[in-house]
Amino acid sequence: MSRRTASWHVATVADTRPETSTARRIELEVPTWPGNDAGSHLDVRLTAPDGYQASRSYSIASSGEGPRITLAVDEVPDGEVSPFLVRDLRVGDQIEVHGPLGAFFVWMPSGDPSPVQLIAGGSGVVPLFAMASAHAASGDEAEFRLLYSVRSPDDAFFSDELDALAGERLTLDLVYTRQAPPGAQVPPGRLTPERLAAAVAPPQNNPRVYVCGPTPFVEAVAGWLIDAGHDPARIRTERFGGS
Ligand SMILES: Cc1cc2nc3c(=O)[nH]c(=O)nc-3n(C[C@H](O)[C@H](O)[C@H](O)COP(=O)(O)OP(=O)(O)OC[C@H]3O[C@@H](n4cnc5c(N)ncnc54)[C@H](O)[C@@H]3O)c2cc1C
Repeated sequence: MSRRTASWHVATVADTRPETSTARRIELEVPTWPGNDAGSHLDVRLTAPDGYQASRSYSIASSGEGPRITLAVDEVPDGEVSPFLVRDLRVGDQIEVHGPLGAFFVWMPSGDPSPVQLIAGGSGVVPLFAMASAHAASGDEAEFRLLYSVRSPDDAFFSDELDALAGERLTLDLVYTRQAPPGAQVPPGRLTPERLAAAVAPPQNNPRVYVCGPTPFVEAVAGWLIDAGHDPARIRTERFGGS
């Protein structure tokens, strides 16, 4: 459970860089930030010169204390907020953020030895990357696995960082839905109940499962997990929207 109280903060854009062809990584400097647990999110509020405001939720890819926060935003075509964040935001710009939010969809070292299974669709990897990074930096003994469904290798968020984590501290399984890398053993295709069951920690190992991504992805995966015998009380979900 998060011990930090959510409030409004002024954030200054410290750095931005392309994450994928449609997404941008955004580093924010927030001097008043109280820190955040791995998996939590915040609300970004934009205000136009005429006073019109729009806000959207974004997961935080970083965790811990300190004034730096990392976001990764995928552009939703014709969206109101994400195209601005991906295309127009510049270093030195200021935006308002409200957080940290989400005490339920977080991971922190606990000494619980049961495995942790992360399952991401697209940009849903953002909070799960924060969890995998926090786990790697901790002495927590739990086995960590990430199943990441993504359109193609070029669409994977945090690709270099995940490759670096993969191995001793993280088992990484990638499912390519539209284009697999050259030489891949498995042709591209959507995640199915069978592929899911083959990749995730089995229900008899009583894993703690975190699922995040577009709403249809999360609902399908959560249903398949329950059908396969996973305990619903051990499954935590975060829906990013979309239909
Ligand atoms: C807790 C939480 C955390 C989130 N974290 C992230 C994150 O880390 N990175 C990130 O890129 N997004 C994240 N999102 C999604 C984000 O809040 C916005 O919904 C997204 O950026 C689209 O906003 P928009 O204003 O551009 O589009 P809108 O103007 O709100 O919507 C335009 C159209 O796109 C559809 N749409 C809305 N959201 C999505 C979506 N996620 N996928 C597909 N279609 C959509 C709408 O139904 C609508 O038809 C998160 C959402 C939640 C609830």
